[in-house]
Amino acid sequence: MTTPADTSAHRTCDACGEDKLVPFADLGEIPVLCGVHWEAHGDAVASGVGRMHLAACPRCAYVRNIAFEPDKLVYDTTMDTNLHFSPAFQKFSAELVESLNERYDLGGKLVLDIGCGQGEFLRELTHVSGAGGVGYDAMYAGEVGEQGGVTFHSAFAPRGGGLPRYDFFTSRHWFEHIDDPYEFLVDLREQAQGREVFGYVEVPDAVYDLATAGWEVIYPHVSYFDAYSLATIFGRAGWTVESTGTLFSGMFRYIEVSANRPRAGGHAAHTGELPSLRARDKQLAAIAGFSERHHAERTKWRDTIARLDADGARPVLWGAGSRGVQFLTLADRELALSAVVDLNPRKWGRFLPVTGHRVDPPSTLTTLQPKAVVITNPAYKEEIAKSLADLGVTAEILVA
Ligand SMILES: [Zn+2]
Repeated sequence: MTTPADTSAHRTCDACGEDKLVPFADLGEIPVLCGVHWEAHGDAVASGVGRMHLAACPRCAYVRNIAFEPDKLVYDTTMDTNLHFSPAFQKFSAELVESLNERYDLGGKLVLDIGCGQGEFLRELTHVSGAGGVGYDAMYAGEVGEQGGVTFHSAFAPRGGGLPRYDFFTSRHWFEHIDDPYEFLVDLREQAQGREVFGYVEVPDAVYDLATAGWEVIYPHVSYFDAYSLATIFGRAGWTVESTGTLFSGMFRYIEVSANRPRAGGHAAHTGELPSLRARDKQLAAIAGFSERHHAERTKWRDTIARLDADGARPVLWGAGSRGVQFLTLADRELALSAVVDLNPRKWGRFLPVTGHRVDPPSTLTTLQPKAVVITNPAYKEEIAKSLADLGVTAEILVA
């Protein structure tokens, strides 16, 4: 049982609305701004931290940070969570554009992208399909207003009215950031005002995140969804779940939904397997083992880096995205790694939050010649191996 002071433990589940959330892992204080990099080292190490206290619903396996404080996290145009510098992610996005356009026949329709980032995906989707588009993201730093049939807002999507008459919405890697995910979904459906609409939502898959070390358990991610809890929250909010599945080596989960669809509707959405109770039970088992696994991984990597450093292997981390930042916070507070490199030129020469690691271009590895390269994202292993070969580096790639 929880202590009386921990009132957040009595929060009702956002997804099913039926059970109370039960705490299962306390990760302590972690960086709030894991996607931000600083010009000054001092600013980086002084940047904010917040507590990550995970709780789960025993009924639907929904997971949430019950210590989350929305006021700590201000989304603005200085944040850079762009995944588009990776060729693997670009290829995956391009294939998704083709698939959505083929199945939903988007030409002439209006597509909203909620949490559009810097707009790459929406631009490609509208370009390929001939749809009109409206993108919303408080982190969007590009030109606002209409450009070639696509309109960008450097702001959150409006609630309670104000959305255009949309036919289709996409939201990729944003839904897990929202403090009130259930209310968001109800509002989005209500703003369709009875029109038939469809949607595609993509989140990190909690099955992957919570069955592994948990490097993707980061402060901006308030919610952690597996198939069952994701279908549950959409269903409770009045959406019809068309299909769900995993993508990108099982790291991402998508869900396709509709609202106000006539029963005999002839659209081309595929119908995948809907999540089973067996899937939920598997997730509940992963949740039960998470805390022990997470703490064991932290210790293991701290020891591994120390050993590689002592052996003269000059271990480095490749990838200064949110997973990388979380890895550094949990496993390299001592700055025993010889370098941190990233493909994104906007990060070069800048410093990562809390730990203060500097990000260098991958080309620095040609001089450093590390014998071990740690990566936190197995999906990029092949791509990084090829880059290392091009840089003339012979190193063992270790997947954390
Ligand atoms: Zn629940």
